[in-house]
Amino acid sequence: VCPVGALTEMDHTNRLINDLNNPRKTVIVQTAPAVRAALGEEFGLPAGTSVTGKMAAALRQLGFAKVFDTDFAADLTIMEEGTELLNRLTAYLNGDKNVRLPILTSCCPAWVNFFEHQFPDMLDIPSTARSPQQMFGSIAKTYWAEKMGIPREDLIVVSIMPCLAKKYECGRDEFKVNDDPDVNYSISTRELASLIKRANIDFNSLPEEDFDQPLGESTGAGVIFGASGGVMEAALRTAYELYTGQKLEKVDFEAVRGLDNIKKATVRLNGVELHVGIAHGLGNARKLLNEIKEGKSEFHAIEIMACPGGCIGGGGQPLHHGNSELLKARTHALYEEDRNKPLRKSHENPYILKLYEEYLGKPMSEKAHHLLHTHYFNKSN
Ligand code: SF4
Repeated sequence: VCPVGALTEMDHTNRLINDLNNPRKTVIVQTAPAVRAALGEEFGLPAGTSVTGKMAAALRQLGFAKVFDTDFAADLTIMEEGTELLNRLTAYLNGDKNVRLPILTSCCPAWVNFFEHQFPDMLDIPSTARSPQQMFGSIAKTYWAEKMGIPREDLIVVSIMPCLAKKYECGRDEFKVNDDPDVNYSISTRELASLIKRANIDFNSLPEEDFDQPLGESTGAGVIFGASGGVMEAALRTAYELYTGQKLEKVDFEAVRGLDNIKKATVRLNGVELHVGIAHGLGNARKLLNEIKEGKSEFHAIEIMACPGGCIGGGGQPLHHGNSELLKARTHALYEEDRNKPLRKSHENPYILKLYEEYLGKPMSEKAHHLLHTHYFNKSN
């Protein structure tokens, strides 16, 4: 069920089949972090089985020209959002009265929709960073398409998401160029499972395959975006090193993990205490927003996700009916994948560094601002 209760589920699977059969189109796909932790349940595998490699193989068999990973864009999100956080924090500490804290994450379109409708007087506090889905689409249809020599009109970008609100996000006008969406449409985890079954692919027998490069490379920080607290943890790993100039030895921030309604942590950055908060579920988010409104918030940065447990509990996932053991199992799969990654900090992703070097310049540059940031609207009327 859509967490904002405002959406009707749109099924784009037939449209996708038509596009995959169109020889004039190059159809590429990105897969969100939470999908790999739940897709296996649709094929009888125990909850918490990570099926990243089989999922990549299945997507290739379905006919996608390239199989990329939204986790790449999650790393990119951290570069932009983390830089924005540090810029705002530094200005605030220097006494700039125009800067408002806390900064709020902006990856979750249901949450964005919620604050645009319910808290229109606070549109200047969320990060302006686009969600990973939209950053991916923007970079795929500019940087990557230019590298590959593919005209924009011949490129179809599809996303596989745990989410129904992502379908609506693809259609927002600010994420289109000449009416062409950066991400053409989104398919849910359940819809992907049904496509795999319709194609008679024996999912459990598939080999483990890798994502394509360059937009398939990610660090462990990108993987944990799928769990509540993951975006904040990823941001802390990068913000710590960028702010202090020192190596972060212990990258696991246990205090921001788990299914508590509201989680808190304090991190010391060169003598500055950074207070962060995490909420999942819009009732918990409302509490934190009301505290900000009343001037009582103790936080410098807040992560909010609309679904229980974050995206692993999204409305497009195999149904979970709020089963916390199942959500914990999916979360565990993501943290295991993070733990086993050779790189676990977004700013160490070599393809992200190359993207800045070859195309964007630096985080928050004019080009990065144009392609990777957004603005919000008062939708209260
Ligand atoms: Fe979508 Fe839910 Fe994740 Fe928000 S928390 S992006 S609504 S799956």
